[in-house]
This record gives sequence, C-alpha cells and structure tokens, in this order.
Amino acid sequence: MTRSIALLGSTGSIGRQTLEVARELGVEVAALTANRSVDLLEQQARAFRPRLAVLCDADAANELRRRLADTDVEVMSGMDGLLAAATMDEADTLVTAVVGMIGLRPTLAAIERKKRIALANKETLVCAGELVMDAADRHGAELIPVDSEHSAIFQCLQGCRDRGEIKRLLLTCSGGPFYGLSRGELAGKTRADALRHPNWTMGAKITVDSATLMNKGLELIEAMRLYRLPLARVEAVIHRQSIVHSLVEFRDGALLAQLGTPDMKLPIRYALTYPNRAPSAEPPLDLLSCPPLTFAPPDEEAFRCLKLAKQAAAAGGTACAVLNGANEAAVGAFLAERIGFLDVPALVERALAEVAQVSNPTLSDILEADRLSRASVERHIS
Ligand code: MG
Repeated sequence: MTRSIALLGSTGSIGRQTLEVARELGVEVAALTANRSVDLLEQQARAFRPRLAVLCDADAANELRRRLADTDVEVMSGMDGLLAAATMDEADTLVTAVVGMIGLRPTLAAIERKKRIALANKETLVCAGELVMDAADRHGAELIPVDSEHSAIFQCLQGCRDRGEIKRLLLTCSGGPFYGLSRGELAGKTRADALRHPNWTMGAKITVDSATLMNKGLELIEAMRLYRLPLARVEAVIHRQSIVHSLVEFRDGALLAQLGTPDMKLPIRYALTYPNRAPSAEPPLDLLSCPPLTFAPPDEEAFRCLKLAKQAAAAGGTACAVLNGANEAAVGAFLAERIGFLDVPALVERALAEVAQVSNPTLSDILEADRLSRASVERHIS
C-alpha cells in the first residue's frame, strides 16, 4: 500500500482524480507537477502541502514561486523538476499522469529508485516498453497500470502465476463519438465533434485519440509490453457501454472480466492500495438497471489509426515511437484546427514510411525517432 505519492500531471483529469483518491485514502502528496497551470497548481499546493511543486514552463514556475513564497513548498521547473519529483525519497509511489513522451525519463528514474509506478502515461510504454519493463524487472520495481483496460486485465490476472495460461487479452473499446461512420462521413469532423465522447470525460488529447481509435491502438501496444505478449494475443473489441473494462481469455476457455461504472477513480485507487482494496463512496454498477452489453469488431478501414498501430507493433524497434510521436504532433495540429480529422492517420502513415526504423533501440534512438516523426508531421502540414 502506498503511503506517499509524487504526482506528475496533477492538473489534468487523472491528476485531479488522483488527488481526490489520495485525500480519501489518507495518502500523503510529496510532489505535484504540471505543465503551466499556475492557478490550479497553487491551489493544489496549498491544499496538499507537498515538499516540491514543479511547472515545466520556466516563466510559469517563476510566477508560482512568487505566489508560494509564504509556504515552505519548493518550486522547480523543466525536466530537472520532473526528475527531482520522480526520485524524491519522501514518495514511495510515482503516479505518472502526464500526457505524452515527456513521462519517459522520470518513469525510468523512479524505477531505478525501486518505486512503485502507478502508470497512467501510456505513451511511455508505447515508445519504450521494452526498456521500461526490463528496467522494472532489473530493479524490482512494481508497475501498476492505471489505464482502465489495463487495470481490468491486471485485476483479472491476480493469482495467475504462469503467463503461458493466457490465450488472449481482449481490450474493450467504446468506439468513440464516431462509431459506425464510414471514412467519407469522418472527413468533415471537427475538433468540437471529436471532443464529444459518449462515456468518459477525459483530457483533449486522449479524447481525440478515442475518436480516431488511435487510443485503442496505443493500448494494444501498451498491453503487449505490460504483459509481454505478441500482437496476435491482444485484441480490441467494440463495447459501446463501457461497462466491461477488459477481459482475459485463458487456455482452458475461461474468460474473466472486470465490470464497473466508467469511473477512473477505481483503477487509481487500486493502483495505490494494491494488493488490497479500499472502500469506495461511489455507487457501484447496478446490474439490474444497466443496459444490455454488446460486442462488435472494430472497423479498421474507416478508423485507420488502429490498423497503423498494429502495423507499428508488428514492425517493432522504433516504429511505435514514430507512431506515437507523429500522432502526438498530428493531434496537436488537429486540436489547433490546422488539419482535418482524416489528416491524422494520413500524417502518421507518412511518418511511419519516412522515418528510418532502428531495431533494438536505445533510449536515445527512441528520443530521436520521436523527434524525427514530429518533424515529419510538421513538414507535411506547412
Ligand atoms: Mg483506456
């Protein structure tokens, strides 16, 4: 059980819910980090009194330091600040709730300190899954997924000692706001359309990823890395109700699933209390009033991002880092209304074709693949 956390990405959707869970569990907060939200980080720092508060943006950090001058909270900025938060002795668990590749180096640094990692930053495992999992094994650090699908699988695998007993992992997928539409119908979809998710309230980047189904593609790769399974044993299945959070099929034909309301506090709470379970004040799923549960295959022709993710997973090496970097850049451009919805898969596909792949990549190969893929996207937009 976690006693004290360092929380990377405290002002985002997962970060704010993590603080609610920490308060409810009586878990201390040793560090808070965010990108540039001075107002909210100041409020959080006053409420939780961490030893360290970090804003990535240097000007924002200066402003925060001025505002927190009457407290004993230390303020840092940039990657140095993130690394200091990730490695501080006061925290036994690092919660990584940042979006994107920026979570990679702090996660590796915390693993080296043998901290528990509550991982809500899927890009880290997508880009550098082998490096991260090898480091966790070598240092004996626990990696507990916070992503709802991976938490469901993690819960279903409790008591499973032999990974050879797993036949398949089935990741459920809501289908997003554009479920059932053809490629032609997707062409004119705007930022506002994409941000209307039917079941989950999340940050903008992941909501767009849910609309393109890239989120599920990234999650397939995340599951392959976490459970060290080949692509052939990890599948996505459309489940519109978001009640079955994922399933494991075992070799004897048993299927285990975790069900619940769409509430991220459950996987957050479990990651902090594992191997125990704490009581929750939220109303549980009521089976008698929940809608019928349906399942369908995803349409990979209309939603090309899922297909591209599988291609990158099959290619291995730096391909997943290229996929992710290009996607982050393209989604950023879509959110800035610089490109259309179908440009996202087109730009990712171009980056995968253009950026030279490296097999058995080192950390610097991965960071370089990430940089080159973003550059490829920018070149084609401008
Ligand atoms: Mg998820």
